[in-house]
Amino acid sequence: MIDNKKMVEIMQAIAKRMEKEKEFLTELDNAIGDGDHGINLARGFAAVEQKLPQLADKDLGAILKGVGMALVSNVGGASGPLYGTAFMKAGGALKGETDIDAEKFAAAFEAGVEGIKMRGKAHEGEKTMLDAQCPALKALKEALAAGKDLKTAMGEAVAAAKDGVAYTKTIIATKGRASYLGERSIGHEDPGAMSSLMMLEEITRVL
Ligand code: ADP
Ligand code: MG
Ligand code: MG
Repeated sequence: MIDNKKMVEIMQAIAKRMEKEKEFLTELDNAIGDGDHGINLARGFAAVEQKLPQLADKDLGAILKGVGMALVSNVGGASGPLYGTAFMKAGGALKGETDIDAEKFAAAFEAGVEGIKMRGKAHEGEKTMLDAQCPALKALKEALAAGKDLKTAMGEAVAAAKDGVAYTKTIIATKGRASYLGERSIGHEDPGAMSSLMMLEEITRVL
């Protein structure tokens, strides 16, 4: 269902979207951080895009590991190591795989989310990217368990991630730079949750 060609297409779509949303994500980060989230991700995914031709013929695990490594080594901010770890862990879950089904996709997504939790020492409810990703993963797993196909299930995951982004507006940040603001972080959406939503939208569109 997802082979190397489709995986490369997904990464290209994410790279394009990050470039397009660079200013918007940076504006969100301006409000509660240091105003570089969009710049960080656009730079990181530009490096990913450059590396894709070398990765295109490899198995899915190797492609995702290469993507993760490009993010870790090209993004200065917190989001580089966090997203980098997520893609590397997802790659670890797909070692040697060349064409995966919905269940394997969900397992890789879960490995990525667990990687972020571990690396960021964070959990849901701290106003981070996890507040988009955790509800999305839960919705994906529930939809697949109910017998829905991957694209439909991912549609539900995207809807859950949207609610998650809206939820970040209502809570205090306790991780990352936004936590320095304490109460003043309320009323603003988390930039990392927003970029995660965008990535999920791109994956779903390409499927
Ligand atoms: P920096 O804060 O270093 O400038 P970015 O602006 O690129 O890095 O990324 C900020 C985003 O990273 C936040 O919006 C949040 O979603 C996410 N983030 C920060 N710290 C953590 C953490 N410990 N765990 C999970 N996500 C985090
Ligand atoms: Mg920042
Ligand atoms: Mg920064």
